[in-house]
Formats: sequence, structure tokens, C-alpha cells
Amino acid sequence: MTAIVWFTRDLRVHDHPALSAAAREHEQVIPLFVLDRTILTSTYHRPNRARFLHDSLRDLSASLRDLGAGLVVREGEVVEEVVRLARQFEVSCVYASADVSAYAARRAAAVSRALAGERRTLRQLPGVTVLAPGEAIPAGGDHFAVFTPYFRRWTELPKRATLPPPDRLRLPAGLRRGRIPARGTLCTGTRAPELPEGGETAGRGRLQEWLSGGVDDYADGHDDLAGDRTSRLSPYLHFGCLSPTEIVARADLRRRGAPEFVRQLAWRDFHHQVLAARPGAATSDYRPRGDRWRADPQAFAAWAQGRTGYPIVDAGMRQLLREGWMHNRARLLTASFLAKDLYLDWRVGARHFLEHLVDGDVANNQLNWQWVAGTGTDTRPNRVLNPLRQAERYDPDGSYVRRYLPELSEVSGSAVHSPWELPTGQRLQLDYPEPIIDHQLAAQRFRAARGKN
Ligand code: FAD
Repeated sequence: MTAIVWFTRDLRVHDHPALSAAAREHEQVIPLFVLDRTILTSTYHRPNRARFLHDSLRDLSASLRDLGAGLVVREGEVVEEVVRLARQFEVSCVYASADVSAYAARRAAAVSRALAGERRTLRQLPGVTVLAPGEAIPAGGDHFAVFTPYFRRWTELPKRATLPPPDRLRLPAGLRRGRIPARGTLCTGTRAPELPEGGETAGRGRLQEWLSGGVDDYADGHDDLAGDRTSRLSPYLHFGCLSPTEIVARADLRRRGAPEFVRQLAWRDFHHQVLAARPGAATSDYRPRGDRWRADPQAFAAWAQGRTGYPIVDAGMRQLLREGWMHNRARLLTASFLAKDLYLDWRVGARHFLEHLVDGDVANNQLNWQWVAGTGTDTRPNRVLNPLRQAERYDPDGSYVRRYLPELSEVSGSAVHSPWELPTGQRLQLDYPEPIIDHQLAAQRFRAARGKN
């Protein structure tokens, strides 16, 4: 008997419940990845993530070959491709990892319906999050809307055991494997010059290094912008090159920093369970505040290019363009600047992030944006981050700013955070804009708009 494992964003062989179940229950397994035409032709398909996806598919295929199989690749409409292969090899059960976005749920439902019409089944297993959405629910509700009680429950609940890769996989005879397209052809357009290498092998290497050293420093260092002392595991988690369950199981909670690090993985689960329950929150305000966002294309362009005149904001935005990734503290303060100082719609900022982030993720990106904009799950929705104070606190000697803003590299110390206060002669030499907005006035305008003045 033959099964199909339909891979989506679970591109690994370790701790993969769908792959393990298929291998346990069937003699032959077809590990399938479909290059989904709907995604390939959507605005979500961007060069940075396409590069990471390509690395990840190559690596997955190599690992599957080591197990005796190799990745089977198709391109087109997912429902058609899955059903055609199931029919061809008389597959009764297709295994996949359950996912949460509206599109993922719709697509899985369509595959399931089409298979059911031929008396075949789609079996969806966990694997994308530590706790599946719905595993932790509050009394009288369908999801947690506040993180702290969610985290309490998340901590108490037992987690499933992690799984080793299958010992061996066998493909059915007569199967055309198909090919992963050449590297540059998956998505045209300019990539960030300093992208991380994708794939499970690279991810496991980074995880090993992190858990045996970096994590110790996490509690003290996670907000240190220049120190870059976070795990940088997010793209591997987004593409499922790493299992969040395995990361939690391997994190030794006696190590300094490990509890705080694990808490961040619970934040990831938290946002996934909100999106699973409210798929519309990807685009609609989770908690509407009656905002009448401004339209200001020039201000948006200055923000997106890292030319607002606030060095800490601009450094974050330039890090995004250079690396396809941004430090969490910088994501917070750049997003706050767009939504609260500029009072531009969070959706416009979230779209720009999704265009560039190699870890760009509907649940984490959209719901973090809503959190920052005060339309989401933040219990203090009207606070406004002061960019100068953020800079003094999280980049006290200005190293982060100098790393990403070469035009300010000659300005020493924390003076780099307020170049508009430099002596006039020095300022004239700098190719750097004046602030596009006064923070104090902007904060007042925002509070007034929210009825808080
Ligand atoms: P670490 O600090 O090492 O944390 C470990 C893991 O925990 C991360 O890899 C991530 O999976 C998870 N995590 C950490 N912080 C959060 C958080 N606030 N919410 C949810 N999960 C978290 N994260 C994404 O993965 N994709 C996104 O598209 C994304 N967009 C964001 C947009 C905004 C406006 C903000 C404020 C945050 C966003 N985040 C996003 C969350 C967070 O910034 C990144 O996960 C983190 O910076 C990734 O770096 P790291 O792997 O070194 O994180």
C-alpha cells in the first residue's frame, strides 16, 4: 500500500508526525511537494522567501534520498496534482501537517473534498506549532485573546513526544520524480544581499549552536540591537525546517535564558491559535479602534527606504532590505513609528514587511503588527514608543545604527541617534534627512485620534 505525504511548510524529516505516520502505516511513501500556482502568482511569493524555500527543498530532497526516496515535485493546481498522483498510485490516504491561515485551511479543505469524492482521505497531523490551535482554549471561548493566561495554560499542558526520522522510505515503481526548478527561476526580482542559507541541515546546525551557548545570554541580551543575541531561527521555523516541539523539548530549562526563549515560542503558538480562530485577522482589525488612518505616500516611502530622519528607525528598515530579516526590537519600533507616529494603516506596513522578510509569516507578521498598532491583543493599545528613548536604551553606543546607516558611520557614540543636533558644519557633510515628523506632536495626534487626550 502507498501513501502520499504532502509537504507544505514543514520541510524536514526530523519530528514530522505526518511523515512518521505514513512511513509506519504504509509500505511505500510518496513525499510530495507541489509548487502551488496560486501562491507562485500571488504577491506573497517574493524573492527572499523563494530563495530560502529553494534551499529548503533541495535539502529536504537530499535527506529523503538518504532515506531511500527523494522529493517528488509537481507544479500547478494543488488539488489536481495531489488527486492525480493519488489516483495513479491507488493511494487511500494523503498525510499532511495542519496549518492555520485562511488560505491553508481552504486549500486543505478543497484537497480533502476532492479526495473524499474518490473514497480517499486527507489526514492532517500536528507539526507546525507546539500546541495545535484548539488544544488550549479558555472556559467559554474558542481561543485565548490575551497572552498571559494562554501562556499559563500552554506551560501546564503536556506536549507530544518528538519523533525521529523514519528509518527508511520506499517509493513505488514507475514514479516520475519531477524536478526542483533551477535556483534563480523560482522567483524573479532582487533579493536581499545577505540572506541566511535555508534548509533543515542549516537550521539544525544553527539550533545546535544556539542551544549549546547563545541561549544562555537570551534573557539579558534579546533586546540588544547591536549584539544580535537572538537565535535567528525564525525562517527555519516559518518553513518548518525545524520543529518547534523539538526545540522546546531540547531547550534545557535550567540554562539561563532558556525559559525566556521558550516563552517566545509560546508567543508564536499564541498568534497561530488567534489566526486559526479568526482567519480574518490577517486583514481586518482584531479589535477595531475607529482609526481613520492617514494616506501619505511620501511618508510611507521614507519609512520603507529607511529615510525618516530617525536613525534607529532607519537602521531597522535598512537591516530588512539588507538581510531580509530584522531584529525584534527594531520590528517593534519601526512598526510603532509607521502606525502611531505616521498614523498610517498597519496593513500597509505589514505588506512591506511580508515583501521582504525571509521569515514572513501570516500569523506572526499580521498579528504582531496588530499588536503594535493597538488593534490586536496588546492590553495597552495606545502606548507610543519614543524612537529616541528606544535608541538610548537598546543601542546605547549607536553601533547598530552605524552598521546599517553608512552615511552616519563617522558620527561617534550615541550622538548618532540625533544627527539633527550635531554642530551645523558637521551636519552639512551628512547625506541624511531631517526628521520627517516631530515625535512629540505625532504622539499627541495619535492619542487624540484614539480619544485619549
Ligand atoms: P528569538 O528571539 O530567538 O525567538 C525564538 C522564536 O520565537 C522566533 O524564531 C519566533 O519563531 C518566535 N518569536 C519570537 N518573538 C515572537 C513574537 N513576538 N511573536 C511570535 N513569535 C515570536 N516573526 C516571524 O516569525 N515572522 C514574521 O513575519 C514576523 N513579523 C513581525 C512583525 C512585527 C511588527 C513584529 C513586532 C514582530 C514580528 N515577528 C515575526 C516576531 C519576531 O520579531 C520574530 O519572530 C523574531 O524577531 C525572529 O528572530 P529570532 O528567530 O532571532 O527570535
